[in-house]
Amino acid sequence: MRPLAASKAIQYIRDLYAKEDKLLQEIHEALVAVHQPIHIGPEEGKFLQLLIQMIGAKRILEIGTLYGYSTIWMGRALPEEGKIISLEHEDRCVEAARSYVHKAGLDGIVDIIAGDACTTLQEKLSDARFDMIFMDADKLQYELYLELALPLLNPGGLIVADNTLLFDSVYEDGPIGGVRQTTWEAMRRFNAVLADPSRFASLLLPTKEGLTLAIKQK
Ligand code: MG
Repeated sequence: MRPLAASKAIQYIRDLYAKEDKLLQEIHEALVAVHQPIHIGPEEGKFLQLLIQMIGAKRILEIGTLYGYSTIWMGRALPEEGKIISLEHEDRCVEAARSYVHKAGLDGIVDIIAGDACTTLQEKLSDARFDMIFMDADKLQYELYLELALPLLNPGGLIVADNTLLFDSVYEDGPIGGVRQTTWEAMRRFNAVLADPSRFASLLLPTKEGLTLAIKQK
């Protein structure tokens, strides 16, 4: 989630390294207008771009499109033959995201699939393969998304998951701040799976929300 008021340090970084263009600003303002500014910050968008370039990702699975803010940051880092399949269950978000992706000139790179992500993964994408998965969706379902999406990730592929500190509750003895017990338990299990060094080279980066990086071992 993007902090509502950026600190001076974050603002300095954004101004220097991660400037939003008019379109990204427009998406941010549209999300603020519907009281859902829960997208990543521009510095995280830039970080995703760097990761894509570092691993030479060509095919990305995104779980949770929202209005396409992160989708557009990632799409802009992909080569012409690259592809992002982005899954979104809310129709109004699908519609908004498609229009922003079109404005970004990324129609050829981004496919947004409407519907429940778990169903889509099982019914439409079981033969697909990806170099990177970006997860920023329903926190209760992260564990299930991982189970369904991991077989689609190429060995050496990268998982990036946002909000893995679960609003500063995941490291407490129990859920706090309105986080549900079931979600807290599911995120604890999700983090434990990704922390297993026999399966992943991984780290939960202590961003404000927590951003996990995990490379699927060969
Ligand atoms: Mg998020």
